Amino acid sequence: MKQALITGSSRGIGRSIALELARRGYDLAVHYARNREAALAVAGEAEKLGAGKVAVIEADLSKREAATELVENAARELGDLSVLINNAGITRDGLLIRMKDNDWDAVIETNLSAVFRLTRAAVKRMMKARRGRIVNVASVVGLMGNPGQANYVAAKAGLIGFTKTIAKEYGGRGITANAVAPGFIESDMTAALPVKVQQEYLSAIPAGRFGKPEEVAQLVAFLASDAAAYINGQTIAIDGGLYPH
Ligand code: NAP
Repeated sequence: MKQALITGSSRGIGRSIALELARRGYDLAVHYARNREAALAVAGEAEKLGAGKVAVIEADLSKREAATELVENAARELGDLSVLINNAGITRDGLLIRMKDNDWDAVIETNLSAVFRLTRAAVKRMMKARRGRIVNVASVVGLMGNPGQANYVAAKAGLIGFTKTIAKEYGGRGITANAVAPGFIESDMTAALPVKVQQEYLSAIPAGRFGKPEEVAQLVAFLASDAAAYINGQTIAIDGGLYPH
């Protein structure tokens, strides 16, 4: 299983996943929405770390048709597709009573509906090969809820249920689907939060620190590997003990 598409791998957690899979010798499709320069830099680093073929592909996953095209482009450029990491995600935070329809729709479309389309396109290919790995990057808030994130939490909780269903539908075809649920991880997404909110999270994390994107990447790379063949339909929290369940 050597060809991987990692959505949202120009920055943050997705970038670290791409670099970890590069170290493990995968062919990679590095995907971005707007930051082409950043994606090209990740591709350059990946090549130095030992990746095979590296493709850099643009797709705005808030647009309906983009997801299927992205999978087809990745499979064409890499020759096949055996691993799909659904990592790209956005936030549009706000309390429920102030949340605009646009904020709800954008988050559900990008964080959940695009994953449905990406996974559908990828699983069709994986079924023929009778092997495949899907890893969905959810969030611990999809398990525990979070004020100000009704749209994001609904998408991430939906992603967890979606993962369990894909596992049951295709577990007999050599395909596994698992989710990871990161807690508070150092990235652009969390750096944008007010310092007060960051401090509140920190005080609730038994580990006493935020996580690093590289730590999430190690877990994702394991779930994508042959070694994880008997793990299917799981959601694994990686949150320093914030929300044991
Ligand atoms: P990030 O640093 O904000 O990076 C987001 C990535 O998604 C970028 O590669 C970005 O591409 C891409 N993206 C943004 N809008 C897109 C769109 N419309 N279409 C396609 N791609 C788009 O995010 P992150 O913190 O690494 O988070 C990665 C994943 O982990 C997300 O699913 C997030 O929900 C989840 N997560 C993060 C944390 C955390 O603490 N950071 C915790 C739990 C879960 P461009 O660079 O081109 O914009």
